[in-house]
Amino acid sequence: GSKEIQLTFARELQKFGLQDEVMVVETGCHGFCEHGPLVIVYPEGTFYCSVKPENVKTIVEEHLYKGRIVQRLLYREPINQEQVPRYSEIGFYKKQHRLVLANCGAINPEAIEEYIAVGGYEALAKAVTQMTPQEVVDEVKKSGLRGRGGGGFPTGMKWQFAKNSESDKKYVICNADEGDPGAFMDRSVLEGDPHRVLEGMAICGYAMGADEGYIYVRAEYPLAIKRLRTAIAQAEEMGLLGEHIFESDFSFTIHIKEGAGAFVCGEETALMASIEGKRGMPRPRPPFPAVSGLWGKPTNINNVETFANVAQIIVNGADWYCRLGTEKSKGTKVFALTGKINNTGLAEVPMGISMREIIYDIGGGITNGKKFKAVQIGGPSGGCLPESMLDLPVDYDSLIAAGAMMGSGGLVVMDEDTCMVDVAKFFLNFTQSESCGKCTPCREGTKRMLEILTRITEGQGREGDIELLENLAKNIKETALCGLGQTAPNPVLSTLKYFRDEYEAHIKEKR
Ligand code: SF4
Repeated sequence: GSKEIQLTFARELQKFGLQDEVMVVETGCHGFCEHGPLVIVYPEGTFYCSVKPENVKTIVEEHLYKGRIVQRLLYREPINQEQVPRYSEIGFYKKQHRLVLANCGAINPEAIEEYIAVGGYEALAKAVTQMTPQEVVDEVKKSGLRGRGGGGFPTGMKWQFAKNSESDKKYVICNADEGDPGAFMDRSVLEGDPHRVLEGMAICGYAMGADEGYIYVRAEYPLAIKRLRTAIAQAEEMGLLGEHIFESDFSFTIHIKEGAGAFVCGEETALMASIEGKRGMPRPRPPFPAVSGLWGKPTNINNVETFANVAQIIVNGADWYCRLGTEKSKGTKVFALTGKINNTGLAEVPMGISMREIIYDIGGGITNGKKFKAVQIGGPSGGCLPESMLDLPVDYDSLIAAGAMMGSGGLVVMDEDTCMVDVAKFFLNFTQSESCGKCTPCREGTKRMLEILTRITEGQGREGDIELLENLAKNIKETALCGLGQTAPNPVLSTLKYFRDEYEAHIKEKR
């Protein structure tokens, strides 16, 4: 309903003669989806939530014309009924540290001037005019930035490999094929701050010696695609993309490739095959993309959130970036909070924050006052963690050690009523139907696992099923060709680790 609200504002401001004094800015997402559409009145930052078109007249007349806050549209937190909530004071935002999402909700993503006004393209200018490509790579290495798409591979190292490959042609690819159920971090960044991603890609191009980039984005993200196209055209017009950027020898162009929504195309080699016009299927590595990638040329692939971190690292320096996070996981991570949680939405937190803080302080706890049972972190490739893990610091290594993974940042919360075998079945069903079928362990193995899970949940479980499930899961993990198959058993393995009694209860019940 946001568009209608925006149009109503224009009409109402006109009626009150405020059209020249008050600017209505359409921004990207503020992340507080549970209470959208949001209207924030600046400069003070009064936060109106769940606004409907019929509320607009009141906001214009009472707040903008008469200077009186509209109390009934304010976001009220249970603990503080008196205070007029400002944007940054609301519990949902208090513990967040918005680096990647800093401009989302703050600037008009379709106006390059607004991005430049908040320091946009300064990093590209600094890199191209004051730094050598190796210095850029070194800065990214020193920052400790790790890939935000799932694996957490050190970004600087990846750039170094691509830089070291000798070739007349190299490519940069931005993986915007976000496919985890419930995840929308990348979409939000692309819709709310597309220039930040373009800038990160161009800096990468300069560092590794590439003059061409592709953004592989899901066709189901039409607004993101529209804003990316606008952003690319604006940047080209201003000489920030294209030939001789900042009058240097560096040239860089960016194309958009729309993906058809196959989950497996998030895998690097499948993604490149898809850009080349082939069927999106992974291939064995080596050769790695840094040596032989798109059309056989050295290629570096990072996801949206990874590129969105780069400009700030270059402008502020790696030491500044390293202040945030843990020893081995630097910076912040954006999570999509979904499931049985009060504040669904997008939250960006410093690495190392506990799961408890994310779920209770930011997420506002469990819906309907129910008890927390588990959280699935990392999407279908991740794992389910129980209550005893709530104080686990959220960083790459702690999550892997606990049997989950950061993944791209999906976080699905479950309450006491959730059946964990059903949850495992849900995620496995997803990965099974997205399996490309190229290798046997994933194609056949996940199908067999799903059969076993189905019969357990339908009360037909047999003795030995749990062991068989475990055995299959471990084998698939070790032998599948790509990340999709290698991580598909994770939800089953983690629920077996922490909620084995539920599997046993299902089987016993039947007997
Ligand atoms: Fe395809 Fe699955 Fe094998 Fe990956 S693991 S190549 S998705 S069949």
